[in-house]
Amino acid sequence: MAGYDSRCRMMEPPTPTRVRLCSRRQALGWLAGGAALGWAGPAEGAWKLVTVGGVEYVTAAGIKQFYRFAGLERSGASVALRSPRLVLRLRSGSQEMFVNGVKFMLSLPVRSQGADVLVSRIDLSKLIDPVLRPSHIAQGPLFTTVVVDPGHGGHDAGARGVFGNEETYTLDTSLRLAKQLQARGLKVVMTRTGDSYPSLPQRVEVANAAPASIFVSVHFNSGGATAQGVETYALAPQGTNRSRKEDAETDAMRFTGNARDSENIALATAVHASMLYQLKAVDRGILRDRWFLLKGIQTPGILVEGGFITSPVECAKIHNPLYRERLAAAIAAGIMNYRKALRR
Ligand SMILES: [Zn+2]
Repeated sequence: MAGYDSRCRMMEPPTPTRVRLCSRRQALGWLAGGAALGWAGPAEGAWKLVTVGGVEYVTAAGIKQFYRFAGLERSGASVALRSPRLVLRLRSGSQEMFVNGVKFMLSLPVRSQGADVLVSRIDLSKLIDPVLRPSHIAQGPLFTTVVVDPGHGGHDAGARGVFGNEETYTLDTSLRLAKQLQARGLKVVMTRTGDSYPSLPQRVEVANAAPASIFVSVHFNSGGATAQGVETYALAPQGTNRSRKEDAETDAMRFTGNARDSENIALATAVHASMLYQLKAVDRGILRDRWFLLKGIQTPGILVEGGFITSPVECAKIHNPLYRERLAAAIAAGIMNYRKALRR
């Protein structure tokens, strides 16, 4: 299967301590349990594989066994895998997965077949495993620099908000984020520091020129007057759809950023969980897409949507500098949680 590394034939079973367990309140420590980069997939023969329509799936029972969940409860289309401090929820027919209340968008819907509830093998290797076992992600060099990308700018105002435009809020939040990160001892490279518009290729160039770095692009969302909440995007793995969208051509392609799939989703998890916890934000999920920036970067990277400026309620919050400071602090804390995970 695309992206699956069949070199990994022998897979030691995870120990309970390696599976990071946390409640939503503990989501800040999401990745504090271990390093995170590149588990290749389950050991051959260790899983029951079910092929439906040419796609390989594993069973919820297999996930329970491999990750040593204490119990599996099924109620109609819903499944809950439980350990004392970890609950993973799935629903047949849905692409949503909740881990301790944090929403993730799977690449393929969960299916049921007889007594089995099925999760695609690519979601196991590209999402569930790096999130549950960050210590199994192959260790890359520890990053010392964060490339902060304030979305839009110059002639590109971005989304038009109720009280202001996206380009202004992204720049201010990013400058605050830069200060927060520098205060924590990290170097920061900005793709812009004023009202200018670096092109998307120029932003990728800046990211790829920064050694030992990660990339965070800061945006605010548009979606009508009532849409609310935060979203965090990681690059869609090769062979999968963008969240809720199909594109046969690009879905099949592998991009530069796909070399960092496991780090991308781990970074997204850490930052998203931190935003939910610190801001009590509405959770729109950790999503997948193929944004130009995420396709081209060689470093781990994410794109954050810090709320809807088309909503009078959310834009009023975002317009307040105190909220932007809290948002910047939440993103910085998430980055530090991710970094701690890499150092273990
Ligand atoms: Zn934007």
